[in-house]
Amino acid sequence: MNSKEELFLTQYNDVPEVRSQFTLPKKVLIHDVTIREVMQSPRLCLRPEEKIRVAKALDKLGVYSIENGAYMTPTEKEVTTELVKMHKKGEIKAKIVPLAHWVEKDIDIALETGADRVLMSANGNPVTLEENDGVSPDEAVKRLTRISSYAKKNGLYFTAQIYDTYRMPLDYMERVFKSLVYEGGTDSIALSDTFANVLPWTAAWMVRKVKSWVPNTRIEHHGHNDFGMSTAMMIGAITGGAEVVHTSINNIGERVGNAATEEVAMVLELLMHIDTGIDLTQIYPTAELVSRLTKLPISPNKAVIGENVFLQGSGMIAWHQFRWEKMGKPWYNMPFAPQTIGKDEMEVILGVGCGKGIVEHELEKMGIPATKEQMGKIADKVKEEAYICKWSLSKIQFRQILTEVLGKEALLKAAVEKAEAGK
Ligand SMILES: [Zn+2]
Repeated sequence: MNSKEELFLTQYNDVPEVRSQFTLPKKVLIHDVTIREVMQSPRLCLRPEEKIRVAKALDKLGVYSIENGAYMTPTEKEVTTELVKMHKKGEIKAKIVPLAHWVEKDIDIALETGADRVLMSANGNPVTLEENDGVSPDEAVKRLTRISSYAKKNGLYFTAQIYDTYRMPLDYMERVFKSLVYEGGTDSIALSDTFANVLPWTAAWMVRKVKSWVPNTRIEHHGHNDFGMSTAMMIGAITGGAEVVHTSINNIGERVGNAATEEVAMVLELLMHIDTGIDLTQIYPTAELVSRLTKLPISPNKAVIGENVFLQGSGMIAWHQFRWEKMGKPWYNMPFAPQTIGKDEMEVILGVGCGKGIVEHELEKMGIPATKEQMGKIADKVKEEAYICKWSLSKIQFRQILTEVLGKEALLKAAVEKAEAGK
């Protein structure tokens, strides 16, 4: 294993009746925001040298571009300058995108880093503009457009990320986007589900709507995960025609984080057959690195990369697993193979779901013979113990049970035979 084609996934995602409902792009670009959003995540941060290390890993993963900056503070300017240098020397392929506030000074700093692009993030919601920014909605349109023109005049590729897009009145939104594109020369508009309250089909509808106003402008999508819908929302935006998605590793980002790079890439590549440029086998190594450096553990239940995706402790399902492993197709019994994302093998645990099949499998590995009756007894004792400790059993706990049921001599004999065979 293991090419994507070998996996056993539903064929119904591909039936024309389903797929023809959408205009799907051949390629979606992944704009990774991990090293930017981490600075806005509760309790998390990355030091400058760690940001460089993560950026290298993101590049190996194959993201199209990497955003950096808690706006352009001196430290962020240094990191961005270093990354731009690496990009220009060909050490990293990903494009480096400095984050700018909606002031000329930030555009100047972005230029000083040597970057050829900039992403301006600014509030677009007229309801909060006055309170948050001390700017009237009319002034805001002028200011946004002025910053766009300024960046374009200085030769930068300009992305306008208008945050809180989805709580803007539609007529004001149209005015802002048309002014940015037709007056300010904006290259790309990033819609932002800042407060994470958008349904996937609403994102699709909104992207189509914005495209009808500025048809030749690239549409990007940014969004957060407070309702647990960030991946679905990104997929919705893509079905509406978004060409770039803003995602972060391990969902890192403001509050409970952004749409996860690993989830969006897996859905696009495996379920929608859309090219992202992502090397899926780098997903787990990258996620693990980011987890180690940010000190944010990966939840065992986390989609794609959580430990539990490849832990098997349920008797009958595990037995199916062993059958398929023997036939050389272990991924027939799982959503995707561990190797797909750069992990090792599936692991079997001894817990409340333990059955004779799991015991047989474990004993076989250890080279210990037992009768069916003994295996049943062992499975019962494993279950009993797992209910007490509310966890899977350790190797020592399992050995104690084996000693109780099979006797010390049987275990010793098997250990000696195994050692002899290994000589
Ligand atoms: Zn954000």
